[in-house]
Amino acid sequence: MMVMVVTGTVSMAAAMAFVRPQQREGIGLWALALLAHAATYVLFLLRGQVSDWLSVVLANAILAGAFALLLAAVTEFHGRAQPWGRLLAPVAATALLIGVFLHDYRLRLLSSSFILALQNAVILWALWRPQPPRQPRGALLISASLGINGLVLLARGLWYTVHEPPPQGFMGSGTGQSITFLSAFIVVLLASLGFILMTKDRAEAINHELANNDLLTGIPNRRLLQQTLRRDALRAMREHAPYAVMMADIDHFKAVNDTHGHLAGDAVLRHVAHLLKARVRGQDMVGRWGGEEFLVLLPATTLEGARQLAEVLRAGVGEAPCHYQGTPIPVTLSIGICADTLQPGDRPSLLVDAADKALYAAKAGGRNRVEHALLMRPHELRGASPAPART
Ligand code: GH3
Ligand code: MG
Ligand code: MG
Repeated sequence: MMVMVVTGTVSMAAAMAFVRPQQREGIGLWALALLAHAATYVLFLLRGQVSDWLSVVLANAILAGAFALLLAAVTEFHGRAQPWGRLLAPVAATALLIGVFLHDYRLRLLSSSFILALQNAVILWALWRPQPPRQPRGALLISASLGINGLVLLARGLWYTVHEPPPQGFMGSGTGQSITFLSAFIVVLLASLGFILMTKDRAEAINHELANNDLLTGIPNRRLLQQTLRRDALRAMREHAPYAVMMADIDHFKAVNDTHGHLAGDAVLRHVAHLLKARVRGQDMVGRWGGEEFLVLLPATTLEGARQLAEVLRAGVGEAPCHYQGTPIPVTLSIGICADTLQPGDRPSLLVDAADKALYAAKAGGRNRVEHALLMRPHELRGASPAPART
């Protein structure tokens, strides 16, 4: 069973070293912990062939060190400062107690059981406190395995507090020892998988965030807007519900850049994004369509509702200049809206096309105003005016 633990641990360490991401996320420390764990069991296997100072004292200190490295890995994953006291104290205490009790198997057993159980508890604490990980799947797996391991160690410590340990000692084949080794093996496999899962889930969440949000303003980007529009519009079509789309464009934005600089322009974009986002409902979505254009998706909204909201947004932005480095920069918006109940066969992008057309009408009408346009279906367009000849 010991050979199995060593082989399993080293293989897992190698696998983790192989997948180790470039960022400091604790994977390297976790792999080191696994190697320390394997080294412990190699020393255990050498019991009787090398000095007890190596196979007992050093082995137990390294085992405590392995759990200290797990704690360090979790701390690094969370991006916190390493708690040196909590990392080194159990290692020092283990070395000291095991050295002092070198010739008392029972006291050694009790010392290592209770210290390791405590280390497991500290790792779980660091995993969930003060803030739990945002993607808790991997942390749950780690908690289950470290939790089981901690309870087994605690039970072992309590059991041998009141019972005599088996006379054959550490290398004997007692049920207690088998359970301990088996639990060590489970910890290695499940907790390591949990940790890999935790780093992978976080990397995926970051990728998802980068793919769907605009870097400058933090609001949804065009990709997410298009995806959401398609999904929402199909549902609205099924439910025969009205759907509205609003295209807002900052007036004379080029002048802001030219007068105050591009950084001021960026600040204005963030300011407007913030104002718009703060004023729409939970089910609505404000995103950056491009440059200084924002698209607002409004499910279950009629033309009248959309127009009212557009006026609120227009007035809100107009009344709240963007303060950039102490200078108030006035901002106004022109807004085009289109609201309709989509019919089967309608492309959702027709709403955006119409809102865009309405936006141009608002610009042409003097800016800082709201206009609406009707949804123009392709066959209606053909009816309205002959299609332009292709050149
Ligand atoms: P109009 O009232 O007709 O909308 O005029 P405008 O100046 O707002 O429109 P125009 O299309 O002429 O200029 C848009 C400007 O927006 C030009 C471009 O450099 C600027 N812009 C686009 N994206 C960004 C950005 O991310 N940051 C900054 N600072 N400027 C941007
Ligand atoms: Mg503009
Ligand atoms: Mg524009």
